[in-house]
Amino acid sequence: MSHLQEIDTAYVAGTYKRFPVEITSGRGSIVCDTAGKQYIDMGSGIGVTAFGIADEGWMGAVTRQLSLVQHMSNLYYTEPCARLAEHICTRTGMKKVFFCNSGAEANEGAIKVARKYAAEKKGADCYTIVTLKNSFHGRTLTTLAATGQDHFHTLFQPLTPGFCHIEANNIDELKEITARADIAGILIECVQGEGGVNVLTKEFVQTAAQIAREKDIILMVDEVQTGNGRTGQLYSYMHYGITPDIVSTAKGIGGGLPLGAVILGEKVENVLGYGDHGSTFGGNPVCCAGALHILERMDDAFLSDVERKGRMVTDALTGQPGIESVSGLGLMIGVKTAKPAAEVLRACMERGVLCLTAKDKVRLLPALNIPDEVLMEAVSVLLAVCAE
Ligand SMILES: *Cc1c(COP(=O)(O)O)cnc(C)c1O
Repeated sequence: MSHLQEIDTAYVAGTYKRFPVEITSGRGSIVCDTAGKQYIDMGSGIGVTAFGIADEGWMGAVTRQLSLVQHMSNLYYTEPCARLAEHICTRTGMKKVFFCNSGAEANEGAIKVARKYAAEKKGADCYTIVTLKNSFHGRTLTTLAATGQDHFHTLFQPLTPGFCHIEANNIDELKEITARADIAGILIECVQGEGGVNVLTKEFVQTAAQIAREKDIILMVDEVQTGNGRTGQLYSYMHYGITPDIVSTAKGIGGGLPLGAVILGEKVENVLGYGDHGSTFGGNPVCCAGALHILERMDDAFLSDVERKGRMVTDALTGQPGIESVSGLGLMIGVKTAKPAAEVLRACMERGVLCLTAKDKVRLLPALNIPDEVLMEAVSVLLAVCAE
């Protein structure tokens, strides 16, 4: 263990099982460690660095704002926050945005809005949120309760009450649970990220949207991982022809700086009033200036290129030796390998490719602007490792 690794192990809380790699710098989709070894980054900080490391345009937007004002309280107006909210609403048809700092916080905000809407409209007993088994919505006590994976729950009881979990893509179960009078909201990821890159069916998502509309239940789509171009649409719900009441997002929107957003549709646009919610750092001008730059670059041509790259990777991997199946949308890809995913990850790392896992799959979340030849070099390493 190096000196740095010893210090980290001694003083940083032991929540992360780190690989023995010290990343010092990078450019685009290439990162460099202390030994000078280069890696292709197929994880992009878990879908965060949408335009890769140290992207010139994004750095320009961020540093310009940094030299003007790095933070202001939400007692005053700042331009990047207002412009970013306007941009998001124009692109989505949604009405208002609440800014926060992370995915968990965005989901907390979404859940608060759904609960307040239901309490005012249907009474204090209507508060239950339906989520899916295998989902992941964050690490706070409320978003853990929303997360449909029991192993996250065990040692942190009692969690926030008022959540129940149904099987993904099970329409009968969805109909049965939403027949209850206490259902305030439905919260889904259109592609479950941490749960193993499972793509929800069109039928299930459209049925959820229809039931939500008919029964005045708030439909929330967690776009923390799937959002901001990742799946080849600006937000993944756009693949499904539905209009959610609330979209939560974070990860890629900030391009590498912490930023989350709760995007509110027409039905709930005025649910939050003065004092109902807040965040000291929410809407930070530096984060918002970077995010506005990121979203402005994600035009239709860019998004269809993300889709093309995703298809190229999926086609190259499907049916190859040692690869059992490939799932995902755009550049959010899950690969079920014959060998254990952790073993594949280590072998790829040795050969200079950094991948992620999700459950029993290898997960690929490269920067959305990764050049074709870099992307396919990483894919060829993965293919070689799987075939051995
Ligand atoms: C990562 C993730 C979260 C949590 O985001 P944080 O920024 O870590 O709080 C929530 N939902 C989904 C779908 C995620 O992928």
